[in-house]
Amino acid sequence: MSTVPVVEGWRHVSSGKVRELYVPADTADVAGATELLLLASDRVSAYDFALEPPIPGKGELLTRLSRFWFDQLRDVPNHLLTPSGTTTPVPAEVAARSMHVMPLRMFPIECVVRGYLVGSGWAEYQQSGSVCGVALPAGLSDGDRLPEPIYTPAYKAPQGEHDENISFERTEELVGPADAAALRDLSLAVYSDAAAIALQRGVVIADTKFEFGRDADGLIRIADEVLTSDSSRYWDAAAYESGNRTDSFDKQIVRDWLSAHWDRTGTPPVLPDEVVERTAARYRELIERLGA
Ligand code: ATP
Ligand code: MG
Repeated sequence: MSTVPVVEGWRHVSSGKVRELYVPADTADVAGATELLLLASDRVSAYDFALEPPIPGKGELLTRLSRFWFDQLRDVPNHLLTPSGTTTPVPAEVAARSMHVMPLRMFPIECVVRGYLVGSGWAEYQQSGSVCGVALPAGLSDGDRLPEPIYTPAYKAPQGEHDENISFERTEELVGPADAAALRDLSLAVYSDAAAIALQRGVVIADTKFEFGRDADGLIRIADEVLTSDSSRYWDAAAYESGNRTDSFDKQIVRDWLSAHWDRTGTPPVLPDEVVERTAARYRELIERLGA
């Protein structure tokens, strides 16, 4: 297991599956913090498990992707703090894999948008003809582009539990109808913009997951990581057009290897070096393709 890095000027408050959260060291009450440091580790998670070993450079590459997308999607309010709005400096040795952000009250919803039918969406469609309650036309195949992108939210389960797909109506019960609609509309709009930008660079964003939170003034902001290869499925557009629907830029390499070597009971096996290296190389290639 990796240890939590000590960051000068900051106090560690919690560990997510991939990121460490810090508040300024002089903050007495975490709830009252006005700045937050999100430090991306090299840990890789799949099927809600943190895997061993870490992927070298992953934290930095994913942070770069998030920053790139926040910059591309400047019209959407996000959680980044500009240097002028901050008082606690981020030490240089962790700067490349950290984001200095405003603490938001997070919605307990994973806002998933799917532009293509793949993965758990494809599995569900085969059973029911729908995905998370969204009816789809008959006759679709694995990896097909959907007639239009669909919003398929999940409930963000507390630490240690698995996230659960839910209907849009359930999100209305959880956060109220107005916020549920706002999260859906924002998610669909951001996905469409990003997918168009990526396609110009020869990359398909098959699906993605956003998280949103509310700031002290009540404004909904996009938070967490955005359109990274952890939160999104990226494909090579040319490969996709020529019928190759398995060649992805994300951690599909890890998922595929795990599916073939683990029955999802007990602790997952340690990833072989070859899988680690191939995954790291794919992350680097995606950055180059996007120009991030
Ligand atoms: P996974 O993403 O694999 O499901 P996780 O969400 O449990 O794992 P991480 O992504 O490692 O954990 O940790 C980031 C945590 O920080 C998440 O709980 C996320 O909701 C939270 N977070 C992100 N941005 C903010 C923000 N601006 N304010 C408050 N919390 C945030
Ligand atoms: Mg997360």
